[in-house]
Amino acid sequence: MHENLRMPHAVSHLRAARLARSAKPFLARGGFKRERCVDCRLVPSHCMCSLRPSLITRAGVCLLMADIEPLKPSNTGWLVADVVADTFAFGWTRTETDPDLLALLCDPQWQPYVVFPGQYAEPERVVRTVQPSDGLRDEARQTRPLFILLDGTWSEARKMFRRSPYLDRLPVLSLEPRQTSQYKLRNSGRTDHFCTSEVAALCMSLAGEPVAEQTLEAYLAVFTHHYLHAKSQQPIAWDGFAHQRLHEVSLLTSRDSGLNSASCGSVRAMPWNGEHREETVARKVPTGGRRRR
Ligand SMILES: [Zn+2]
Repeated sequence: MHENLRMPHAVSHLRAARLARSAKPFLARGGFKRERCVDCRLVPSHCMCSLRPSLITRAGVCLLMADIEPLKPSNTGWLVADVVADTFAFGWTRTETDPDLLALLCDPQWQPYVVFPGQYAEPERVVRTVQPSDGLRDEARQTRPLFILLDGTWSEARKMFRRSPYLDRLPVLSLEPRQTSQYKLRNSGRTDHFCTSEVAALCMSLAGEPVAEQTLEAYLAVFTHHYLHAKSQQPIAWDGFAHQRLHEVSLLTSRDSGLNSASCGSVRAMPWNGEHREETVARKVPTGGRRRR
């Protein structure tokens, strides 16, 4: 764990900028309209800021966020920014592109991948694995994978994919999930639509970062627990399965301090399948909101 527990990250900066542009206060659709923690967006009684993990990873994440996505309490791109220290976030509009985003995509330390279903891209752009850089012995010359996640509803994500010419030259990483989505805070009626945090976990797995993958999974389960218990005004089960699992994963992190893809390759054998009775019950309360892929 790192010391940046309460430091604002890319998504909180984006949220602050978006709020500054708002003429009227944002009211979460279908959510609870009570006072919220400015960091985790939950009501203070269900705040999970003390649980926030942060990892140094070789892979980075670049979130392109639809207009009000940073403001939505059910947004999980926020969780990715909590966990993955090298997370970048940019607001997406069709007509304007942040020069910092263009600079990031041209930065030679990164190999960007647009994470999107391959069926929507020209076949020659589609890849299903992340380029290993083992062939390059000189560490300084190795590029780091940068996963570009289109964070919005499914229709917003498709629009971002089609109408961002600067993405057209980049490979499209098409994921083949081994399981169905566990995310139940927005309901698309489909189990093959994954939330942003789940997509980031799958990417970390492909990048050979199992601790990041498992931390994202465990942190999403904790967030889901807090979110749904806040909504139903139930107390948090601080010693329940979700919290225990996040604690276990944090021990992996400290054991593998100085974490990188090489040093943590052995921890995938953890008996974790992302499913548990308590959380399955907790997550069966849909909020009727919209889903993203
Ligand atoms: Zn909080």
